[in-house]
Amino acid sequence: MPSDYYDVLGVDSDASQDEIKKAYRKKAMEYHPDRNPDDPEAEQKFKQASEAYDVLSDPETRKRYDRYGQDGLGQSGGGRRGGQGFQDIEDIFSAFDDIFGGGQQQRSRRQRGRPGSDLRVTLPLSLEEIAEGTEKNIKVRKFLACETCDGTGAKGGMEGENYVMCPKCDGTGEVRQVSRSVFGQFVNVQACPRCNGEGRIIENPCEDCEGEGRIEGEDTVSVTVPAGVMDGNYLTISDAGNAGIRGGVPGDLRIEIEEREHEHFVRDGLDIYYDVYLSFPEAALGTEVDVPTLEGHARLEVEAGVQAGKILRMRSRGVPDLEGSGKGDQLIRIHVWTPQDLTDEEMQILEELRNHDTFQPHPGDTETEKSFFRRVSDAFS
Ligand SMILES: [Zn+2]
Ligand SMILES: [Zn+2]
Repeated sequence: MPSDYYDVLGVDSDASQDEIKKAYRKKAMEYHPDRNPDDPEAEQKFKQASEAYDVLSDPETRKRYDRYGQDGLGQSGGGRRGGQGFQDIEDIFSAFDDIFGGGQQQRSRRQRGRPGSDLRVTLPLSLEEIAEGTEKNIKVRKFLACETCDGTGAKGGMEGENYVMCPKCDGTGEVRQVSRSVFGQFVNVQACPRCNGEGRIIENPCEDCEGEGRIEGEDTVSVTVPAGVMDGNYLTISDAGNAGIRGGVPGDLRIEIEEREHEHFVRDGLDIYYDVYLSFPEAALGTEVDVPTLEGHARLEVEAGVQAGKILRMRSRGVPDLEGSGKGDQLIRIHVWTPQDLTDEEMQILEELRNHDTFQPHPGDTETEKSFFRRVSDAFS
């Protein structure tokens, strides 16, 4: 290992951070393994330059190095990546990327290519499907890894994966645009469109994907939806999103549940509401009605004298709790239908009844009235 990191980079010991960065960039370009295949000496120099840069680019470690030399770096070596040197070629690439990426890419170490983006799809479900839980196959349009090149983007797959410096940005990964105005000069820095900010391109790109390592396509994803989900709930399937560029990690797929409006029921949490309309005589005399449920039908006995607005509770006929702690109820809201086009005969009968004592309303007296108002406030709280 070298005695002097400043010598390795070819800068003075009072060089600015900027000068150090520039010097490293120059050395790294010169000795980069891509440009010096099978050249152990170049590789060694590249590693030395990277190590020197590691120490000198951090003002804290540089200060210790200035004062105590390599001893000052302690057991860990003091560099940001530790002092044991680079573990493998990926580390070298990552150091290369750190400086050439210009902050345009968010690549973590040991990561190939560029990550794919997350995808989001909506899965509409009926209330019955939600109550039972269901399995669905969802078709998703997305980027798939190119099979021809194994997602590498290189002709011949891994074997053909030779990189050359991007000619558009000269390996910097960024392009600059200078514009002048009355306020002075503006410099606009953007990721290089040719190399996507990577600073390097594949020498012989795969023809099927034009070097992207992925193609547009369609995938079918199977998903198991547990019973009891709600509108807006979502499931995330890792790695089922868009394939990354040139072997980058795929994004995730987010499946959002959308509850379809039901023909009969209105859902309120785990409970479901159903409206029953009784004729005036049915309400007065009592009756039996047939009501739909999530699992079919049920007969419901309605007592004589039921008031409009009464809520009848059918226990455990609602939606199951997602956590598995029981089921909600089905609630039947009683409505009484007031006749509107009476015949003369009907009118006469009702006229007779009009003044009967039992037909006089006395709200507030009955349990049913009280429970009705309590229910309404529950439903809106
Ligand atoms: Zn390909
Ligand atoms: Zn470029």
